[in-house]
Amino acid sequence: MEFKQQFSSREEITTYLGQMFKGLYTGEPRAPALHGGRSASLAQLEAFKAKNYGRRNHTNAPVSRLSAYLRHGQLSMLEVAEYIRSHSQGRERDEFLKQLTWRDFFYLVLEQKGLKVLENLEEPKYPMRWVQPMPDDILEARTNLPCVDAWVSKLVDTGYLHNHERLWFAAYTVHFRQIHWQAGFAFFREHLLDGDIASNALSWQWVASTFSHKPYFMNKDNISKFSSNQWCAGCRAKCPFDKTYQTLERELFGADYGWSS
Ligand SMILES: Cc1cc2nc3c(=O)[nH]c(=O)nc-3n(C[C@H](O)[C@H](O)[C@H](O)COP(=O)(O)OP(=O)(O)OC[C@H]3O[C@@H](n4cnc5c(N)ncnc54)[C@H](O)[C@@H]3O)c2cc1C
Repeated sequence: MEFKQQFSSREEITTYLGQMFKGLYTGEPRAPALHGGRSASLAQLEAFKAKNYGRRNHTNAPVSRLSAYLRHGQLSMLEVAEYIRSHSQGRERDEFLKQLTWRDFFYLVLEQKGLKVLENLEEPKYPMRWVQPMPDDILEARTNLPCVDAWVSKLVDTGYLHNHERLWFAAYTVHFRQIHWQAGFAFFREHLLDGDIASNALSWQWVASTFSHKPYFMNKDNISKFSSNQWCAGCRAKCPFDKTYQTLERELFGADYGWSS
């Protein structure tokens, strides 16, 4: 209440908070791209009906954008699940509830394992040569790969990435650049508005193969298909993804494991 009376604009709040939290963040203080609070979170929930959620793997699909509200406790998982049960139906409802269950599952793993989730939970499934830290060309969005640079810019500018973009970026970092997943986890945690320990660390480990029976990786066809050719059309970069899965498997992991068949 008092907070509302003291400030008349978002800019004023940003300036005030920037001074209060000086030293705890990098770069210039700025307001997040997403409005927070209970009213904004309810409006977001009520606008979402899981329509076309079956297309959720496409980067232009109408996903809920509820993760930051769930992360900061402005919505509970239970109320989101209840809402979707009563406002949508069929496969789209079930698919949405399945995704929510992943979140719940990751929290259960965190509860059980504690901060061990920040270390490899299993041995990697290939002879890895991961190094730290995250290289500057990735951090500064100048890899010369338009898709990768776009994911980094979007992450830093908006605090959000679509799930498929997170997967692609993680696979690029860990498998194509051989950066330790922990460096990727830290980068996401710094910038994601929904950044948390459970979903973030365990998703990176799932991609890396330390929380899964095989690594996740993608090729150009996959990026092109699920991004509606957004970055591939007209791209002149020397594309590291433009190979068959079988070739990538041999090049990235050193053997033919049959993961791509
Ligand atoms: C490398 C990597 C890191 C990630 N880090 C985070 C993170 O720090 N915080 C976070 O909340 N999610 C994380 N995710 C999971 C997922 O990408 C986001 O939850 C989702 O993209 C958020 O967008 P949305 O709310 O529109 O999702 P929707 O598709 O609308 O899904 C609805 C809700 O279900 C849950 N959900 C959906 N997909 C997943 C998933 N794959 N894993 C776990 N929960 C899911 C989220 O709570 C989401 O809000 C990560 C995924 C990857 C691959």
